[in-house]
Amino acid sequence: MDNYSVIPSLESLLSESACRRFAFGLVCPGGPRCPRCSTILDPRRHERFYGNQVSFCSHCLRKFVPLGGTVFSSCKISFRVIVLMLYLFDLGYRNARIIEMTDLSKDSVQKWRRKWLSLKQTEMVDCG
Ligand SMILES: [Zn+2]
Repeated sequence: MDNYSVIPSLESLLSESACRRFAFGLVCPGGPRCPRCSTILDPRRHERFYGNQVSFCSHCLRKFVPLGGTVFSSCKISFRVIVLMLYLFDLGYRNARIIEMTDLSKDSVQKWRRKWLSLKQTEMVDCG
């Protein structure tokens, strides 16, 4: 079976919201918390938090961007493409194959491989 005919449809089956939650879990394992005081955000603020919109902590009155300062800050790639790429890294695919299977540039794939290795080798960065 030709892997090239299977992998692109796999990407289309991934849920952007599930992949977004996975990404947030990597860098914010404690869930929606304030990065300054670690207060768990009110559930009414979770949608803004997981939407990576400016969020507000009603305890310390600080505004923050949830993914600011993490590997996902200013990321232009969809979360489902990132998660697919991470799977392909872990399955042993080389960068050249990943570039062929996605619309990602060589620089993006190289950058994300370094980010992924760094995330896996170090303690997960906590938002708090
Ligand atoms: Zn706070």
